[in-house]
Amino acid sequence: MVNPPASLFIDGQWSPSSAGGTRDIFCPADGQLVATVSEASTEDVHRAIAAARHSFDTGPWRAIPEGQRGDVLLRAAAILTERSDEFATAESKDTGKRFVESKIDMDDIAACFTYFGKLAGQDAGRVVDAGSNDVVSRVVYEPVGVCGLIAPWNYPLLQAAWKVAPALAAGNSFVLKPSELTPHTSMLLMDVLTEAGVPPGVANLVLGAGAVAGAPLSEHRDIDLVSFTGGLVTGRKIAASAAGTVKKVALELGGKNPNVIFADADFDAAVDNALNGGFVDSGQVCSAGARIIVEESIHDRFVDALVERANQIKLGGPFDETADAGPLISAAHRDKVTDYVRKGVEEGAELRCGGAWGEGDLADGYYYRPTILDKVRRGMSVVVEEGFGPVVTVETFTTEDEAIETANDTDYGLAGAVWSQDSGKGQRVAQRLRHGTIWINDFHPYLPQAEWGGFKRSGVGRELGRMGLAEYQEAKHIYHNLQPSVTGWFPDGSTRE
Ligand code: NAD
Repeated sequence: MVNPPASLFIDGQWSPSSAGGTRDIFCPADGQLVATVSEASTEDVHRAIAAARHSFDTGPWRAIPEGQRGDVLLRAAAILTERSDEFATAESKDTGKRFVESKIDMDDIAACFTYFGKLAGQDAGRVVDAGSNDVVSRVVYEPVGVCGLIAPWNYPLLQAAWKVAPALAAGNSFVLKPSELTPHTSMLLMDVLTEAGVPPGVANLVLGAGAVAGAPLSEHRDIDLVSFTGGLVTGRKIAASAAGTVKKVALELGGKNPNVIFADADFDAAVDNALNGGFVDSGQVCSAGARIIVEESIHDRFVDALVERANQIKLGGPFDETADAGPLISAAHRDKVTDYVRKGVEEGAELRCGGAWGEGDLADGYYYRPTILDKVRRGMSVVVEEGFGPVVTVETFTTEDEAIETANDTDYGLAGAVWSQDSGKGQRVAQRLRHGTIWINDFHPYLPQAEWGGFKRSGVGRELGRMGLAEYQEAKHIYHNLQPSVTGWFPDGSTRE
């Protein structure tokens, strides 16, 4: 038997699974084997948690000045930039994503480490007025402790970076569990962090399926915070199991994001961005603009233009420079998307394009054609549920109020867009949309310095921005009485009979 690979990073050492478990990773673009990795047993996960706990309770990371921790993050950003091609290649093989898109992700990942590296040490807390000159009262920010970080497969390293960078900047130790489908860039990251100066035991990596490698991160009493990005169903499980030890919970869940287009929008820009919003990364984006809500008077022209453009999208593998979009993550996920579209059509949606798998050269991968479902109604499953594939639905409205009401009629609240050349209207609508990010006349840009997260069932807490760092901190109030004295609250012993 071949020795299981040493794919788990625990206490500064690479090790194989204690139970010998392995998983083959396949490229979704052609079904070819990428590599075999070890999968953690429960014992391995407990070992990683113990290493993180020990490093936090005794180690140097949280004790060093925040600015120096920031310097380590900046070094990590520089190494990630230097090794960007290598990382992007690994990401593209695991996800099937186009190499150029993985390269953009790498820029975003380096920017995230840079942002949190610079933010570390900028806020040393504050002195508050205690109402007495004899008291110095300070609020300071301390690391939460040991963090369990659970990431999804769609932006494997980017979503992990949104957690790892602020967790480290705040002085925490962590155990990271990437999706079982996309482990490789998280593995590469561990060596980068070591090279940048993160001490052993602070950064730990376990691989494997959620039930074995992920669940202990929400259940274990030695984990102080669990931060999860993934689907709503898993998010609910994590919140419920974290409740047992009342740990802090941060959840970045799904979205069903409206893209509201008024008749006075820049037509070509709105069509183009509706295409980007719906079909970038084959729609496997939590903030995908899957729900197009267009003013009735331009509906026909808009959808015709969108269909024409969608039909021109060329599917292909990560290194096919002529391709515009890649495959879905797995055969199982493509089956899910196929059923989702079928059900939508059964419920009355009009299939304007797509609804088909890739053929010919693409038959070995998990490709699905960009799909537009017109004439949908609120309440239909394709309007209510997240599809997480290259599928957009089209609804219409006639008044501003109706547009807003339709866009807010979802249990989710992650992101949304409004298109109009009337700035007042754009701002008005943006203010009334109940979603965590609103784009006016754009779709998809985000900034590491601006908070990201969901209203309603799209999540709890925020990543990125100052709140993204605060997520990994505890606030402590230190009240220092400079003139201690007898309070006289209770009777003096000498006066009691
Ligand atoms: P998923 O919920 O299936 O899995 C996410 C991660 O959780 C994986 O690492 C998985 O192994 C792990 N997991 C599964 N069960 C677990 C358990 N019981 N305990 C602990 N961990 C467990 O999601 P996915 O399919 O990987 O990703 C797609 C979903 O992620 C979509 O719903 C998408 O909207 C969401 N997402 C949200 C954001 C955001 O910023 N809000 C970003 C990216 C993806």
